[in-house]
Amino acid sequence: MVPEGDTVWNTARVLAGAIEGQVLTRSDFRVPQLATVDLAGWLVAESASYGKHLLLRLTREPDRAMTLHSHLRMDGAWRTYRPGERWTGRPAHLIRVALHAAASVAVGFHLHELAIVPTAEEHRLIGHLGPDLMGDGWDPAEAVTRLAARPQRPIADALLDQRNLAGIGNLYKAEVLFLRGVNPWTVAGSVPDLPAMVDLAHRLLNANRGRWTQTTTGSLRRGETNWVFERAGRPCRRCGTRIERWTGGDHDRITYWCPHCQPVVPAPPGP
Ligand SMILES: [Zn+2]
Repeated sequence: MVPEGDTVWNTARVLAGAIEGQVLTRSDFRVPQLATVDLAGWLVAESASYGKHLLLRLTREPDRAMTLHSHLRMDGAWRTYRPGERWTGRPAHLIRVALHAAASVAVGFHLHELAIVPTAEEHRLIGHLGPDLMGDGWDPAEAVTRLAARPQRPIADALLDQRNLAGIGNLYKAEVLFLRGVNPWTVAGSVPDLPAMVDLAHRLLNANRGRWTQTTTGSLRRGETNWVFERAGRPCRRCGTRIERWTGGDHDRITYWCPHCQPVVPAPPGP
């Protein structure tokens, strides 16, 4: 499971099921910048997501509202437990926060960008993001406009840039490009049909709502869920050509593609 928009959306729903509507009895932050924060007495009003960002909205009488923000990046996770249950599944040294309520405990492992802001100022954390692929306010036209605004940029980078559209990571990037037959280094201005690409990304992520297995092929069987992602050196499911892999120095920009199904398209002359 790769934490992309669908995983984060699912995580927000799990947190909602466990602690939404409950008053926190205790909090335990294990990051220096929040070590002294005490959320006892705060009501968990809403667990939401935007792109790959998690937003736990808390309220307290008379009219105070603040948001606990977290980001999973490649390796973070929230787990929920019953009171008294052992916190299994992840090593204890990865715990960044535990939120205790009467019926549940929510534990955040290896979370990134953990921060608390007044809810009215959430835009400081997520205001730069493009339309949310998993959100009710999904705006495909805006996503296309943003992708097209830098026509010389490789489409693989543009799809990953959360300022264009929010929720795509390396898995959906690679899979969307394969299914559209577009080489990862094709510049945005040369992609034949950006609206169709954006629409496909939206459909793929939303098809995996509510389940942790991410499939783009339709199969939920182990080893059959993806077309190219994490299939380097193996034969393309369509043409048999060896799947290629490239990584830009760190695993934040890893990509996979089929050289036959996704041929290189020459870039148009620069502006
Ligand atoms: Zn192929």
